[in-house]
Amino acid sequence: MADFGGTDLEAFRAEARAWLEANYPPSLKAPMDDESEAPWGGRRFAPKNPDAQLWLDRMAEKGWTAPMWPKEYGGGGLSREQNKVLESELRRIKARPALMSFGVWMLGPVLLEYATEEQKQRFLPDIVKGKIRWCQGYSEPGAGSDLASLQTRCEDKGDHYLINGQKVWTSYADQADWIFCLVRTDTSKKHEGISFVLFDMTSPGVETRPIKLISGSSPFCETFFTDVKVPKEQLVGKLNGGWEIAKRLLQYERQNISAGGFGGGGGIDMVEAAKEHVGVDDQGRIADADLRARIAAHKMDQHAFLLTVRRAEAEAKASKGPSAATSIIKYAAAKLNQERTELTVEALGLQGLGWEGDAFKPGEVAALRSMLRAKANSIEGGTSEINLNVVAKRVLGLLDHQ
Ligand SMILES: Cc1cc2nc3c(=O)[nH]c(=O)nc-3n(C[C@H](O)[C@H](O)[C@H](O)COP(=O)(O)OP(=O)(O)OC[C@H]3O[C@@H](n4cnc5c(N)ncnc54)[C@H](O)[C@@H]3O)c2cc1C
Repeated sequence: MADFGGTDLEAFRAEARAWLEANYPPSLKAPMDDESEAPWGGRRFAPKNPDAQLWLDRMAEKGWTAPMWPKEYGGGGLSREQNKVLESELRRIKARPALMSFGVWMLGPVLLEYATEEQKQRFLPDIVKGKIRWCQGYSEPGAGSDLASLQTRCEDKGDHYLINGQKVWTSYADQADWIFCLVRTDTSKKHEGISFVLFDMTSPGVETRPIKLISGSSPFCETFFTDVKVPKEQLVGKLNGGWEIAKRLLQYERQNISAGGFGGGGGIDMVEAAKEHVGVDDQGRIADADLRARIAAHKMDQHAFLLTVRRAEAEAKASKGPSAATSIIKYAAAKLNQERTELTVEALGLQGLGWEGDAFKPGEVAALRSMLRAKANSIEGGTSEINLNVVAKRVLGLLDHQ
């Protein structure tokens, strides 16, 4: 039997399986009703089903909410291979995520790389336990794709920093406890005048205003800072050295967005939906030949995408983490998710056009809302155009001569 890093994988699988079977709360076996059940953790986390908290606590206790982080910071200390086994065992029992967290997906990995030992001890264990919900303060009204134009000022006031400015599209800022925020600490330089700070969203001077989306929800906010005092020990990395951390975090963000494949779609199988609502021909195939061909092409692209992700993961094994190549995956994942959600709505026929009401099943309504939400996939985490630019410059080296 293969031995990976001193631990037998099959023994680990047996141990993980037994633990999951004993500890996954049976009441969570049904799929989540809607987004309100998503386990984001944080000070205000009060799930409808209290077993969601139990599941989070049990997984956090094992460090399996951040399985590959070092044990000394509360993580699971698993190898990449063990983590894959754990993921497959979680899929096997159709487990809901124990914790969804910008802290786990984005902030934690850069803290592990750039934070002081004191900062790691202070922030990482609480991220693993889902105690603090984080939001991302990057974009501003005048700084999206050209993020380094950001203007939120951070002034050194001797014993603290003082922050004034505005962020926009800050996902869940109104629900978050803390923010990881890019600020300008030097106005004479562009990229070299940016710093990376962390602060509490309940600090005096922080205000959030939710923005309503076409899908009907308000997942992000305008966020205003007026004379917000931030202790100096909450600067991560060097003063004016935040751009490097910002870019690294974006690689983790793109990797995570892509790994999740964006999800959504109301759990509807588009082939079955098309057979039911569009009809079948005399061979039992989807009757509409054009739709049938587009669904087949999409399924092939989806399969090729998953194989590419696996290959990229294998290639990244030797390196220290994600690279600019995450832009390829993020670009493709956004395109595929938009295509998938559009095809699902088309396959549902008239049942795909329901916004609310008894005439439509919850999954059908969710399919339409997911299709509309997916429009943002090619914008969030860096637009598709910007990701193609990254691929051209940093992966293919095409623009080196400009
Ligand atoms: C659902 C969602 C969640 C988000 N969550 C967050 C969050 O939590 N925190 C946060 O800070 N931000 C968040 N954002 C913001 C997101 O990062 C920005 O919207 C994105 O980076 C684009 O910036 P912008 O909206 O200012 O568009 P712009 O930069 O103004 O771009 C407008 C258009 O011009 C194109 N364009 C711009 N520059 C170039 C170029 N050089 N070459 C080719 N085309 C170009 C873009 O591709 C785009 O099509 C979120 C966005 C969405 C949609």
